[in-house]
Amino acid sequence: MVKNYINGELVEPVSGEYFDNYDPSEGEACDIVPDSDERDINSAVKAAEKAFPMWSTTPAEERSKIMMKIASLIQRDLGELARAECVDNGKPLSLAKSVDIPRAIRNFEFFASAIHGFASESHSMEDKAINYTLRNPIGVVGAISPWNLPLYLFTWKISPALVTGNCVVAKPSEITPMTAFMLSELCIEAGLQKGVLNIVHGYGQKVGRAISAHPKIKAITFTGGTKTGADMASIACSMFKKLSLELGGKNPSIIFADCKYDEMLETTIRSSFQNQGEICLCGSRIFIEKPLYEKFKTDFVKKTKKLKVGDPLESKTDQGAIVSKEHLEKILSYIDLAKKEGGKILCGGKQVHLEGRCKNGWFIEPAVIEGLPYDCRTNREEIFGPVVTLIPFETEEEALKMANSTEYGLASIIWTENLSRAHRVASKIQTGIVWVNCWMVRDLRTPFGGMKSSGIGREGGTEALRFFTEPRNICVKL
Ligand code: NAD
Repeated sequence: MVKNYINGELVEPVSGEYFDNYDPSEGEACDIVPDSDERDINSAVKAAEKAFPMWSTTPAEERSKIMMKIASLIQRDLGELARAECVDNGKPLSLAKSVDIPRAIRNFEFFASAIHGFASESHSMEDKAINYTLRNPIGVVGAISPWNLPLYLFTWKISPALVTGNCVVAKPSEITPMTAFMLSELCIEAGLQKGVLNIVHGYGQKVGRAISAHPKIKAITFTGGTKTGADMASIACSMFKKLSLELGGKNPSIIFADCKYDEMLETTIRSSFQNQGEICLCGSRIFIEKPLYEKFKTDFVKKTKKLKVGDPLESKTDQGAIVSKEHLEKILSYIDLAKKEGGKILCGGKQVHLEGRCKNGWFIEPAVIEGLPYDCRTNREEIFGPVVTLIPFETEEEALKMANSTEYGLASIIWTENLSRAHRVASKIQTGIVWVNCWMVRDLRTPFGGMKSSGIGREGGTEALRFFTEPRNICVKL
């Protein structure tokens, strides 16, 4: 049973109500989650406010040490956490073990050490004056995260917020609450002081909105859908809250005929379908230079068909379950839309019914579609599942025009061995993150985030440390 973590204790929601948490691989309820509301957020904010004077004046070195301790406890429990993530989200256990949980450890470790290099700026005006800029913690901050990379993204938000001396009220997705709950147990074990981190579970409409609207929460880091981000901004912006919004995407992969073919093919399978395509950074529109189109199509479809859809707990599974029934239905409805828009399904796109333990689970074959106009709905709207479209192009300009034609601007992938072209395209593509000849290579020091409707602000490295601090410039006359 999941509980809220407020003022250092695991507590029931004020309402006393719970809702079911599902294991998508079985399609069955496996646990219950607090149906919290504004009242729980009020208690969490009170606890955070009370802890703030102590935590914000605790030396950064001490804050860093306790975060390292939390990281080591996650490491100790990696197996259990990975299994919980797999059961909650439907992702293959192998992926949770090799990516999700190790990355949660790295998030804590990274920010625990990054804080040591976070220096004040100073600007000298020769013999007139000297300026120095102090960066103080903001106070109580909010963190709201989605279901696709549950602990990975949750810790990506709370680590920089905590290490800079803020107290946090955080809400994981109601669809995948388990590892955030387990983290609260580890925080207690690590000796994190009461109220420094508070985790409140429940629905976005109640708990998330209460975070957006609470007058004492001064900054919010949010990762989720673009529509939700807009709702949050409409409340939080009018209250002058600092906002970091990491939103949806419809990422292009642009493949030029001169690319290193085998490496590109292998990586494009991953960048299309890893985590059932439920990664905001997956490339869902694949633009292929015409001379390579037919060969790519044949090989890509062949490889896609070989991906094993199966029980996420089994080591041979490539594609696990889709996170929820609603999301499965949404993906299937986009396959129908693609057909209506004139698309040809080259493979996949059907619901899969497995045998045994997973017979009622929510599975789908990864789908490859061709023949759609670049500006149709299927190619403009975020599907967030194992569905990609193939689109041929003749010139660099045409590829760029089509790639930049959506409202989104999160990430892009470019494949070419032509150095000048790689730089040229990278400089013109409208995304906050560009990978050339690779995908998901992540240096946590780099700015992470999207342009256009994919978000506002950047997270990662110094950007995150800056977001969670309030600069104060002091000018001293000499
Ligand atoms: P979502 O927007 O439905 O939910 C995200 C979080 O917001 C959840 O915790 C949810 O409970 C909460 N929420 C829902 N309504 C709210 C409201 N009105 N006010 C405040 N909080 C509310 O997104 P999701 O379905 O969980 O996740 C999928 C989306 O997340 C996709 O669009 C994906 O692209 C995006 N995403 C973006 C990034 C990125 O880095 N840009 C990373 C991962 C996922």
